[in-house]
Parts: sequence; structure tokens; C-alpha cells
Amino acid sequence: MTAAPPRPLELTFLGTGTSFGVPVVGCDCEVCTSSDPRDRRTRHAAFLRLPGGGELLVDTPPELRLQLLGAGIRHVDAVWYTHAHADHLHGIDDLRIISLRERRSVPVYVPAEALDMVARRFDYIFDPDYRPDEGATRPELSLNGVDPSRPLELLGETFHPLEVPHGSMNPLGFRVGDLGYVTDAKRLPPAAMERLEGVRLLVINALWHGNPHPTHFNVEEAVEAARQVGAERTYLTHLTHRLGHAKLTASLPPGVRPAHDGLTVRLAPGRPVEEL
Ligand SMILES: [Zn+2]
Ligand SMILES: [Zn+2]
Ligand SMILES: [Zn+2]
Repeated sequence: MTAAPPRPLELTFLGTGTSFGVPVVGCDCEVCTSSDPRDRRTRHAAFLRLPGGGELLVDTPPELRLQLLGAGIRHVDAVWYTHAHADHLHGIDDLRIISLRERRSVPVYVPAEALDMVARRFDYIFDPDYRPDEGATRPELSLNGVDPSRPLELLGETFHPLEVPHGSMNPLGFRVGDLGYVTDAKRLPPAAMERLEGVRLLVINALWHGNPHPTHFNVEEAVEAARQVGAERTYLTHLTHRLGHAKLTASLPPGVRPAHDGLTVRLAPGRPVEEL
């Protein structure tokens, strides 16, 4: 009897923009007025279909409802929060339909350092004493802290947290299987580099060309980090309106590409990384 072939992991980029999104309100620049649909970027989110069948959402930006509708996503098993910045978190109420329809609590995982902040900011969700008015509902979510130093068993997979510096916050990316996923990083510290060793598919953030930013990679820094990790394929996300998709693509070395909203990538053992 032959064993069933190992199942792939699929990653869908739901939102690939920075906190302002692209186009930026009131901006007439080349990228904000571009007719290329890949130049329209909502705030950061991603969706993983794991080899064991689990479905994980990464972040809940303000456009979450539109992103889920656009990608045809009806169900989410759990949510991984990279950090508590508004552009990654403030669409949390859009999880309400998932917990309501499935009559269950959705587990959400946040960096341990952000637990109090998230619970305070969304007290109507996380205060056990709060009762919605009659006829109203709230998202039913169970809040879990992720210890950056320990692997986490989640949806049948082992997630290795990748802690990265980002101003006063320390977002958690992750490695699962041969995928490394990081956003809102200024550097990849040695512990993250070690955990990324041998990944085949890498996602990292990049704002723009040149002019280094205090809390985010620019394109040159992201490309250098990608070179050091040496994944077969790297996608750049969290992009500003200073980067047009076509021009950025042409400026990147082989193996490094910009992500765009709606792109799905498949990672299967023994096969090249594939865009669907
Ligand atoms: Zn613009
Ligand atoms: Zn951030
Ligand atoms: Zn961000």
C-alpha cells in the first residue's frame, strides 16, 4: 500500500497594504490612481489552509468583512494576531458572524505582551461581565497569550513564534512547516533567523525603497533579510503607495516578489512553490 501524498499548505494574502491602505484617501499619486488591481491594497491579513485541514486567519484589519467575502472564506478555526496595532486588530468585530453562526467561541492568539491591551481596548468582547443589549450580539472569542519563546500546538500543527522588533511592540510572526511568516519587523533577530532556517516560503514586510523607517523594513532591508534566510520564494507584504506592483516586481531579485490582495500560494512537499 502506498502512503497518501502529503497535503499542501495554502496561503492567501487577504490584505497587503500598510496602515493607510492603498489608495490612500485624498492621494493622486501614480500608484493610488493606477488601474492595475494589484495596486489596490487593504490592510494586513492572511489566511492559511493547513495540511491537516485547519483554517487560520492572521490578523483582523478594518476591511476584514470585505476580505472574507472577496476570498469566499466562510469559516475560521482560530486567529493569530501578530500585534495590537489598529490596522491589524480593529476589524475584530467582523469575527462576530463566525461565532454567531457556528455557535462556538473562536480562539484568538495574541502575543502575551499584548493581552491586557487587547482586553482593555475591546472590553465589550473580553469582559466576562458585559452583557450585550437584548437583540444585540458580540463576537464570542477566547483570548490566549502566546509565549514568544515556546512553540505552540495549534490546529494540529506546531507554530514556532518569531518575535521581531517594531518600535515599542514585539510582533509575533511564525514558522509552520516550511512557511515563515513575518510582518511589521524592523529586523530578524538571531532567534528568528535560527527558527527560519530551511524555510521554503517566506513572507516579510517592506514599506518603500530607500529612506529607512525606524520600525519597518524598507525594500532593500527586506531583500537583504530574504537573501539571508534563503527561501525558495519570498513575498513582500505591508506595502505603501510608494510601491507600484509592476515596477516593484521588476526591481526585485529572482525569488522575491510582491504579494497582492487575493493571491494564493501553495506549498507542497517536493514541489516548487506555486501561485494559484
Ligand atoms: Zn498615493
Ligand atoms: Zn504595526
Ligand atoms: Zn502594520
